[in-house]
Amino acid sequence: MSNTFTYQGSAAHIVFGAGRSLEVGDWVQKLGCSRTLVLSTPHQRADAEALAARLGPQAVGVFAGAVMHTPVEVTEEAMAVVRQSGANCVVSLGGGSTTGLGKAIAYRTDLPQVVIPTTYAGSEVTPILGQTEKGLKTTVRHASILPEVVIYDPELTLGLPVGMSVTSALNAMAHAVEALYAQDRNPISSLMATEGLRAFKASLPHIVETPRDLQARADALYGAWLSGTVLGTVGMALHHKICHTLGGTFDTPHADTHAIVLPHTAAFNAVAARAALAPAAEIFGGSVGGGLWDFAKSLAAPLALRDLGLSETDLDRAAAIATENPYWNPRPIDRPAIRALLQDAWEGNRPTD
Ligand code: NAD
Repeated sequence: MSNTFTYQGSAAHIVFGAGRSLEVGDWVQKLGCSRTLVLSTPHQRADAEALAARLGPQAVGVFAGAVMHTPVEVTEEAMAVVRQSGANCVVSLGGGSTTGLGKAIAYRTDLPQVVIPTTYAGSEVTPILGQTEKGLKTTVRHASILPEVVIYDPELTLGLPVGMSVTSALNAMAHAVEALYAQDRNPISSLMATEGLRAFKASLPHIVETPRDLQARADALYGAWLSGTVLGTVGMALHHKICHTLGGTFDTPHADTHAIVLPHTAAFNAVAARAALAPAAEIFGGSVGGGLWDFAKSLAAPLALRDLGLSETDLDRAAAIATENPYWNPRPIDRPAIRALLQDAWEGNRPTD
Protein backbone atom coordinates (compact mmCIF):
# COMPACT_ATOMS: atom_id res chain seq x y z
CA MET A 1 0.00 0.00 0.00
CA SER A 2 1.27 3.42 -0.95
CA ASN A 3 1.93 5.82 1.91
CA THR A 4 0.02 8.51 0.04
CA PHE A 5 -3.74 8.29 -0.14
CA THR A 6 -6.98 10.24 0.14
CA TYR A 7 -9.83 8.84 2.21
CA GLN A 8 -13.40 10.02 2.63
CA GLY A 9 -15.96 8.10 4.71
CA SER A 10 -19.53 7.72 3.49
CA ALA A 11 -22.28 9.96 4.87
CA ALA A 12 -24.88 7.16 4.79
CA HIS A 13 -26.44 5.59 7.87
CA ILE A 14 -26.08 1.78 7.82
CA VAL A 15 -28.62 -0.16 9.89
CA PHE A 16 -27.79 -3.86 9.96
CA GLY A 17 -29.48 -6.88 11.55
CA ALA A 18 -32.24 -9.49 11.34
CA GLY A 19 -35.66 -7.92 11.77
CA ARG A 20 -34.38 -4.35 11.54
CA SER A 21 -36.49 -3.52 8.47
CA LEU A 22 -39.30 -3.16 11.04
CA GLU A 23 -37.57 0.10 12.05
CA VAL A 24 -38.25 1.71 8.67
CA GLY A 25 -40.89 4.08 10.06
CA ASP A 26 -38.47 5.35 12.73
CA TRP A 27 -35.88 6.09 10.04
CA VAL A 28 -38.42 7.88 7.85
CA GLN A 29 -39.26 10.02 10.87
CA LYS A 30 -35.58 10.65 11.72
CA LEU A 31 -35.16 11.97 8.17
CA GLY A 32 -37.93 14.47 8.94
CA CYS A 33 -40.29 12.86 6.42
CA SER A 34 -43.93 11.91 6.71
CA ARG A 35 -45.09 11.07 3.16
CA THR A 36 -43.30 7.98 1.85
CA LEU A 37 -43.56 6.49 -1.62
CA VAL A 38 -42.55 2.81 -1.52
CA LEU A 39 -40.78 1.50 -4.64
CA SER A 40 -40.36 -2.05 -5.93
CA THR A 41 -40.31 -4.17 -9.08
CA PRO A 42 -43.60 -5.74 -10.23
CA HIS A 43 -42.29 -9.04 -8.81
CA GLN A 44 -41.96 -7.61 -5.28
CA ARG A 45 -45.20 -5.60 -5.30
CA ALA A 46 -46.84 -7.64 -2.53
CA ASP A 47 -43.83 -7.07 -0.22
CA ALA A 48 -43.87 -3.35 -1.04
CA GLU A 49 -47.59 -3.15 -0.28
CA ALA A 50 -47.04 -4.93 3.04
CA LEU A 51 -44.30 -2.44 3.86
CA ALA A 52 -46.56 0.49 2.97
CA ALA A 53 -49.29 -0.99 5.18
CA ARG A 54 -46.78 -1.20 8.04
CA LEU A 55 -45.86 2.46 7.49
CA GLY A 56 -49.57 3.30 7.79
CA PRO A 57 -50.15 7.07 7.60
CA GLN A 58 -46.43 7.61 6.85
CA ALA A 59 -46.98 6.04 3.38
CA VAL A 60 -48.64 7.77 0.44
CA GLY A 61 -48.47 4.86 -1.98
CA VAL A 62 -46.54 2.18 -3.84
CA PHE A 63 -44.93 2.42 -7.27
CA ALA A 64 -44.10 -1.15 -8.34
CA GLY A 65 -42.75 -0.45 -11.83
CA ALA A 66 -38.97 -0.61 -11.32
CA VAL A 67 -37.07 -2.51 -14.03
CA MET A 68 -33.43 -3.29 -14.86
CA HIS A 69 -31.11 -0.45 -16.05
CA THR A 70 -33.41 2.41 -14.89
CA PRO A 71 -35.08 3.46 -18.16
CA VAL A 72 -35.88 7.19 -18.15
CA GLU A 73 -39.50 6.51 -19.24
CA VAL A 74 -40.12 4.49 -16.06
CA THR A 75 -38.52 7.20 -13.93
CA GLU A 76 -40.82 9.78 -15.53
CA GLU A 77 -43.83 7.62 -14.72
CA ALA A 78 -42.66 7.36 -11.12
CA MET A 79 -41.97 11.13 -11.00
CA ALA A 80 -45.61 11.77 -11.91
CA VAL A 81 -46.65 9.64 -8.91
CA VAL A 82 -44.17 11.52 -6.68
CA ARG A 83 -45.69 14.86 -7.72
CA GLN A 84 -49.29 13.70 -7.53
CA SER A 85 -48.89 12.07 -4.10
CA GLY A 86 -46.79 14.85 -2.57
CA ALA A 87 -44.22 12.27 -1.43
CA ASN A 88 -41.35 13.73 0.57
CA CYS A 89 -39.18 10.60 0.70
CA VAL A 90 -38.81 7.24 -1.04
CA VAL A 91 -38.27 3.79 0.41
CA SER A 92 -36.77 1.36 -2.12
CA LEU A 93 -37.40 -2.30 -1.31
CA GLY A 94 -35.53 -4.69 -3.62
CA GLY A 95 -32.37 -5.19 -5.65
CA GLY A 96 -30.30 -2.86 -7.80
CA SER A 97 -33.18 -2.14 -10.18
CA THR A 98 -35.42 -0.73 -7.45
CA THR A 99 -32.52 1.11 -5.82
CA GLY A 100 -31.75 2.61 -9.24
CA LEU A 101 -35.27 4.01 -9.54
CA GLY A 102 -35.06 5.55 -6.04
CA LYS A 103 -31.73 7.13 -6.96
CA ALA A 104 -33.14 8.48 -10.24
CA ILE A 105 -35.96 10.16 -8.29
CA ALA A 106 -33.53 11.55 -5.69
CA TYR A 107 -31.26 12.90 -8.44
CA ARG A 108 -34.20 14.85 -9.89
CA THR A 109 -35.78 15.98 -6.60
CA ASP A 110 -33.18 15.63 -3.84
CA LEU A 111 -35.75 13.63 -1.84
CA PRO A 112 -34.19 11.50 0.90
CA GLN A 113 -34.01 7.75 0.34
CA VAL A 114 -34.23 4.75 2.62
CA VAL A 115 -33.09 1.57 0.84
CA ILE A 116 -33.88 -1.95 2.02
CA PRO A 117 -31.74 -4.19 -0.25
CA THR A 118 -32.86 -7.73 -0.99
CA THR A 119 -29.97 -8.75 -3.29
CA TYR A 120 -26.19 -8.32 -3.00
CA ALA A 121 -25.72 -5.87 -5.92
CA GLY A 122 -24.34 -3.09 -3.69
CA SER A 123 -25.93 -0.10 -5.45
CA GLU A 124 -27.49 1.16 -2.19
CA VAL A 125 -24.16 2.48 -0.90
CA THR A 126 -22.91 4.25 -4.03
CA PRO A 127 -23.52 7.80 -5.31
CA ILE A 128 -23.70 6.35 -8.84
CA LEU A 129 -26.78 6.16 -11.05
CA GLY A 130 -26.83 4.28 -14.34
CA GLN A 131 -29.87 5.09 -16.48
CA THR A 132 -30.94 4.23 -20.00
CA GLU A 133 -32.55 6.46 -22.59
CA LYS A 134 -33.31 5.28 -26.13
CA GLY A 135 -31.19 2.17 -25.52
CA LEU A 136 -28.14 4.16 -24.38
CA LYS A 137 -26.83 3.73 -20.82
CA THR A 138 -25.19 6.72 -19.14
CA THR A 139 -23.77 7.00 -15.65
CA VAL A 140 -23.86 9.96 -13.30
CA ARG A 141 -22.20 10.42 -9.92
CA HIS A 142 -23.70 13.01 -7.55
CA ALA A 143 -24.06 13.47 -3.79
CA SER A 144 -27.89 13.57 -4.06
CA ILE A 145 -27.82 10.00 -5.46
CA LEU A 146 -26.30 8.39 -2.35
CA PRO A 147 -29.14 6.99 -0.19
CA GLU A 148 -29.31 8.52 3.30
CA VAL A 149 -30.28 5.30 5.13
CA VAL A 150 -29.69 1.65 4.22
CA ILE A 151 -31.39 -1.07 6.24
CA TYR A 152 -29.77 -4.48 5.73
CA ASP A 153 -32.17 -7.10 7.04
CA PRO A 154 -30.97 -10.64 6.21
CA GLU A 155 -34.45 -12.03 6.86
CA LEU A 156 -35.57 -10.36 3.62
CA THR A 157 -32.94 -12.28 1.64
CA LEU A 158 -33.91 -15.77 2.87
CA GLY A 159 -36.11 -16.27 -0.20
CA LEU A 160 -33.65 -14.90 -2.77
CA PRO A 161 -33.36 -17.89 -5.16
CA VAL A 162 -30.03 -19.72 -4.86
CA GLY A 163 -28.98 -19.06 -8.46
CA MET A 164 -29.60 -15.33 -8.09
CA SER A 165 -27.90 -15.31 -4.69
CA VAL A 166 -24.76 -16.76 -6.26
CA THR A 167 -24.62 -14.48 -9.32
CA SER A 168 -25.55 -11.40 -7.30
CA ALA A 169 -22.78 -12.21 -4.80
CA LEU A 170 -20.24 -12.70 -7.61
CA ASN A 171 -21.34 -9.31 -8.97
CA ALA A 172 -20.53 -7.79 -5.55
CA MET A 173 -17.25 -9.69 -5.37
CA ALA A 174 -16.25 -8.10 -8.68
CA HIS A 175 -16.49 -4.68 -7.01
CA ALA A 176 -14.20 -5.92 -4.23
CA VAL A 177 -11.64 -7.52 -6.56
CA GLU A 178 -11.36 -4.36 -8.68
CA ALA A 179 -11.15 -2.21 -5.53
CA LEU A 180 -8.04 -4.12 -4.46
CA TYR A 181 -6.03 -2.85 -7.44
CA ALA A 182 -7.83 0.49 -7.94
CA GLN A 183 -5.49 3.37 -8.67
CA ASP A 184 -7.16 5.47 -5.93
CA ARG A 185 -7.43 2.69 -3.33
CA ASN A 186 -6.68 3.46 0.30
CA PRO A 187 -6.03 1.27 3.36
CA ILE A 188 -9.71 1.28 4.39
CA SER A 189 -11.02 0.37 0.92
CA SER A 190 -8.56 -2.53 0.74
CA LEU A 191 -9.58 -3.77 4.21
CA MET A 192 -13.24 -3.58 3.26
CA ALA A 193 -12.71 -5.32 -0.07
CA THR A 194 -10.74 -8.16 1.52
CA GLU A 195 -13.28 -8.61 4.31
CA GLY A 196 -16.11 -8.55 1.76
CA LEU A 197 -14.48 -11.36 -0.25
CA ARG A 198 -13.86 -13.34 2.93
CA ALA A 199 -17.52 -12.98 3.98
CA PHE A 200 -18.78 -14.27 0.61
CA LYS A 201 -16.23 -17.10 0.48
CA ALA A 202 -17.41 -18.29 3.89
CA SER A 203 -21.16 -17.83 3.42
CA LEU A 204 -22.03 -18.79 -0.16
CA PRO A 205 -21.43 -22.56 0.15
CA HIS A 206 -23.83 -22.56 3.14
CA ILE A 207 -26.44 -20.56 1.22
CA VAL A 208 -26.27 -23.03 -1.69
CA GLU A 209 -26.76 -25.92 0.71
CA THR A 210 -29.26 -24.30 3.11
CA PRO A 211 -30.77 -21.20 1.49
CA ARG A 212 -32.63 -20.20 4.66
CA ASP A 213 -29.52 -20.23 6.88
CA LEU A 214 -29.92 -16.84 8.57
CA GLN A 215 -26.29 -16.58 9.73
CA ALA A 216 -24.98 -17.30 6.23
CA ARG A 217 -27.47 -14.78 4.78
CA ALA A 218 -26.28 -12.16 7.29
CA ASP A 219 -22.63 -12.83 6.38
CA ALA A 220 -23.39 -12.47 2.66
CA LEU A 221 -25.29 -9.23 3.20
CA TYR A 222 -22.34 -7.95 5.24
CA GLY A 223 -20.13 -8.83 2.24
CA ALA A 224 -22.54 -6.94 -0.02
CA TRP A 225 -22.34 -3.82 2.14
CA LEU A 226 -18.52 -3.89 2.14
CA SER A 227 -18.24 -4.59 -1.58
CA GLY A 228 -20.84 -1.97 -2.50
CA THR A 229 -19.08 0.59 -0.35
CA VAL A 230 -15.78 0.15 -2.18
CA LEU A 231 -17.59 0.37 -5.52
CA GLY A 232 -18.83 3.77 -4.37
CA THR A 233 -15.46 5.03 -3.18
CA VAL A 234 -12.74 3.87 -5.61
CA GLY A 235 -12.50 3.59 -9.38
CA MET A 236 -13.36 0.42 -11.29
CA ALA A 237 -11.31 -0.93 -14.19
CA LEU A 238 -11.29 -3.48 -17.04
CA HIS A 239 -13.79 -5.88 -15.48
CA HIS A 240 -16.55 -3.29 -15.14
CA LYS A 241 -15.79 -1.89 -18.60
CA ILE A 242 -16.22 -5.34 -20.21
CA CYS A 243 -19.43 -6.04 -18.26
CA HIS A 244 -20.90 -2.64 -19.20
CA THR A 245 -20.08 -3.37 -22.83
CA LEU A 246 -21.68 -6.81 -22.79
CA GLY A 247 -24.77 -5.65 -20.85
CA GLY A 248 -25.14 -2.34 -22.70
CA THR A 249 -24.57 -3.53 -26.27
CA PHE A 250 -25.54 -7.19 -26.21
CA ASP A 251 -28.12 -7.07 -23.40
CA THR A 252 -26.60 -9.94 -21.40
CA PRO A 253 -28.04 -10.26 -17.86
CA HIS A 254 -26.19 -8.04 -15.38
CA ALA A 255 -25.25 -10.35 -12.50
CA ASP A 256 -24.58 -13.44 -14.67
CA THR A 257 -22.24 -11.44 -16.89
CA HIS A 258 -20.23 -10.25 -13.89
CA ALA A 259 -20.14 -13.79 -12.49
CA ILE A 260 -18.73 -15.28 -15.70
CA VAL A 261 -16.23 -12.55 -16.57
CA LEU A 262 -14.73 -12.00 -13.09
CA PRO A 263 -12.23 -14.93 -12.99
CA HIS A 264 -10.91 -13.92 -16.42
CA THR A 265 -10.40 -10.23 -15.68
CA ALA A 266 -8.87 -11.08 -12.28
CA ALA A 267 -6.40 -13.48 -13.94
CA PHE A 268 -5.61 -10.93 -16.66
CA ASN A 269 -4.83 -8.23 -14.09
CA ALA A 270 -3.03 -10.55 -11.64
CA VAL A 271 -0.01 -10.38 -13.96
CA ALA A 272 0.35 -6.64 -13.25
CA ALA A 273 -1.19 -6.34 -9.77
CA ARG A 274 0.02 -9.44 -7.95
CA ALA A 275 0.79 -7.71 -4.65
CA ALA A 276 -2.50 -5.80 -4.57
CA LEU A 277 -4.44 -9.00 -5.36
CA ALA A 278 -2.51 -11.14 -2.85
CA PRO A 279 -5.31 -11.02 -0.21
CA ALA A 280 -7.81 -12.32 -2.80
CA ALA A 281 -5.40 -15.00 -4.02
CA GLU A 282 -4.95 -16.15 -0.43
CA ILE A 283 -8.72 -16.38 0.14
CA PHE A 284 -9.29 -18.33 -3.08
CA GLY A 285 -6.47 -20.83 -2.76
CA GLY A 286 -3.37 -19.28 -4.27
CA SER A 287 -4.41 -18.16 -7.75
CA VAL A 288 -6.99 -15.42 -7.96
CA GLY A 289 -8.41 -16.15 -11.44
CA GLY A 290 -8.32 -19.94 -11.22
CA GLY A 291 -9.43 -19.83 -7.58
CA LEU A 292 -12.43 -17.61 -8.34
CA TRP A 293 -13.38 -19.88 -11.27
CA ASP A 294 -13.19 -22.99 -9.03
CA PHE A 295 -15.27 -21.22 -6.38
CA ALA A 296 -17.91 -20.16 -8.94
CA LYS A 297 -18.02 -23.71 -10.36
CA SER A 298 -18.46 -25.21 -6.88
CA LEU A 299 -21.53 -22.97 -6.47
CA ALA A 300 -22.93 -24.05 -9.86
CA ALA A 301 -22.62 -20.47 -11.16
CA PRO A 302 -22.80 -19.91 -14.93
CA LEU A 303 -19.28 -20.16 -16.41
CA ALA A 304 -19.64 -19.47 -20.15
CA LEU A 305 -20.83 -16.36 -21.98
CA ARG A 306 -22.17 -18.59 -24.76
CA ASP A 307 -24.83 -19.77 -22.30
CA LEU A 308 -26.13 -16.17 -22.03
CA GLY A 309 -27.08 -16.08 -25.71
CA LEU A 310 -23.97 -14.20 -26.85
CA SER A 311 -22.77 -15.52 -30.20
CA GLU A 312 -19.11 -16.08 -31.01
CA THR A 313 -19.36 -13.61 -33.88
CA ASP A 314 -20.22 -10.85 -31.33
CA LEU A 315 -16.84 -11.21 -29.62
CA ASP A 316 -14.85 -9.09 -32.12
CA ARG A 317 -17.26 -6.20 -31.70
CA ALA A 318 -17.33 -6.63 -27.92
CA ALA A 319 -13.51 -6.50 -27.80
CA ALA A 320 -13.51 -3.37 -29.98
CA ILE A 321 -16.06 -1.53 -27.80
CA ALA A 322 -14.49 -2.65 -24.52
CA THR A 323 -11.09 -1.29 -25.58
CA GLU A 324 -12.40 2.08 -26.82
CA ASN A 325 -11.94 4.82 -24.19
CA PRO A 326 -10.74 2.26 -21.64
CA TYR A 327 -10.98 2.92 -17.88
CA TRP A 328 -7.64 3.08 -16.07
CA ASN A 329 -6.39 -0.51 -15.59
CA PRO A 330 -3.34 -1.92 -13.80
CA ARG A 331 -2.33 -3.88 -16.94
CA PRO A 332 -2.22 -2.12 -20.29
CA ILE A 333 -5.20 -3.05 -22.43
CA ASP A 334 -4.78 -4.19 -26.02
CA ARG A 335 -7.51 -5.47 -28.26
CA PRO A 336 -6.06 -8.91 -29.16
CA ALA A 337 -5.54 -9.73 -25.46
CA ILE A 338 -9.12 -8.69 -24.59
CA ARG A 339 -10.44 -10.66 -27.58
CA ALA A 340 -8.61 -13.75 -26.24
CA LEU A 341 -9.99 -13.11 -22.74
CA LEU A 342 -13.52 -12.90 -24.15
CA GLN A 343 -13.00 -16.14 -26.09
CA ASP A 344 -12.04 -17.92 -22.86
CA ALA A 345 -15.01 -16.44 -21.01
CA TRP A 346 -17.31 -17.38 -23.91
CA GLU A 347 -16.08 -20.99 -23.90
CA GLY A 348 -16.06 -21.22 -20.10
CA ASN A 349 -12.37 -22.12 -19.83
CA ARG A 350 -10.62 -22.08 -16.45
CA PRO A 351 -8.05 -19.24 -16.29
CA THR A 352 -4.66 -20.35 -15.05
CA ASP A 353 -3.36 -17.26 -13.22
P1 NAD B 1 -32.73 -6.72 -9.75
O1 NAD B 1 -32.90 -5.63 -8.78
O2 NAD B 1 -33.08 -6.45 -11.18
O3 NAD B 1 -33.56 -7.98 -9.24
C1 NAD B 1 -33.79 -9.08 -10.12
C2 NAD B 1 -35.16 -9.69 -9.83
O4 NAD B 1 -35.11 -10.34 -8.55
C3 NAD B 1 -36.28 -8.65 -9.73
O5 NAD B 1 -37.44 -9.16 -10.29
C4 NAD B 1 -36.45 -8.49 -8.22
O6 NAD B 1 -37.73 -8.07 -7.86
C5 NAD B 1 -36.17 -9.90 -7.72
N1 NAD B 1 -35.71 -9.96 -6.33
C6 NAD B 1 -34.90 -9.09 -5.69
N2 NAD B 1 -34.70 -9.50 -4.44
C7 NAD B 1 -35.42 -10.64 -4.26
C8 NAD B 1 -35.59 -11.52 -3.15
N3 NAD B 1 -34.98 -11.34 -1.98
N4 NAD B 1 -36.41 -12.59 -3.33
C9 NAD B 1 -36.98 -12.83 -4.53
N5 NAD B 1 -36.84 -12.02 -5.61
C10 NAD B 1 -36.06 -10.94 -5.47
O7 NAD B 1 -31.22 -7.31 -9.76
P2 NAD B 1 -29.86 -6.77 -9.15
O8 NAD B 1 -28.81 -7.67 -9.70
O9 NAD B 1 -29.95 -6.58 -7.68
O10 NAD B 1 -29.69 -5.32 -9.77
C11 NAD B 1 -29.22 -5.11 -11.08
C12 NAD B 1 -29.32 -3.64 -11.43
O11 NAD B 1 -28.59 -2.88 -10.47
C13 NAD B 1 -28.69 -3.32 -12.78
O12 NAD B 1 -29.51 -2.38 -13.45
C14 NAD B 1 -27.35 -2.69 -12.41
O13 NAD B 1 -26.87 -1.81 -13.40
C15 NAD B 1 -27.69 -2.00 -11.12
N6 NAD B 1 -26.52 -1.77 -10.23
C16 NAD B 1 -26.17 -0.47 -10.00
C17 NAD B 1 -25.09 -0.20 -9.16
C18 NAD B 1 -24.71 1.24 -8.88
O14 NAD B 1 -23.88 1.52 -8.03
N7 NAD B 1 -25.31 2.19 -9.58
C19 NAD B 1 -24.38 -1.25 -8.53
C20 NAD B 1 -24.78 -2.55 -8.78
C21 NAD B 1 -25.87 -2.82 -9.64
